[in-house]
Amino acid sequence: MATVLRLTCPQCGDVDVPIDGGRLVISGTESGSDLQFDCPRCGAAGVERLDDRAASLLMAAGICMVASSLPQHPVGGTQTSG
Ligand SMILES: [Zn+2]
Repeated sequence: MATVLRLTCPQCGDVDVPIDGGRLVISGTESGSDLQFDCPRCGAAGVERLDDRAASLLMAAGICMVASSLPQHPVGGTQTSG
């Protein structure tokens, strides 16, 4: 029996997402993690904030984990604003 996550799609509201459809994004700098998922109903990408307890429960259930990829800031540019 597959684990199903009850999540909130920005378009559909409450949806049941199979654990295979979710990814736990590990952030090294903050406590807690983000759960990214693809809505099984409309296909939209959603994200939900999890605390450490919820995240560890999903890890125990075998969710896919990814490291958060921070955007690379260009170095040495001469861009000015203002
Ligand atoms: Zn949806």
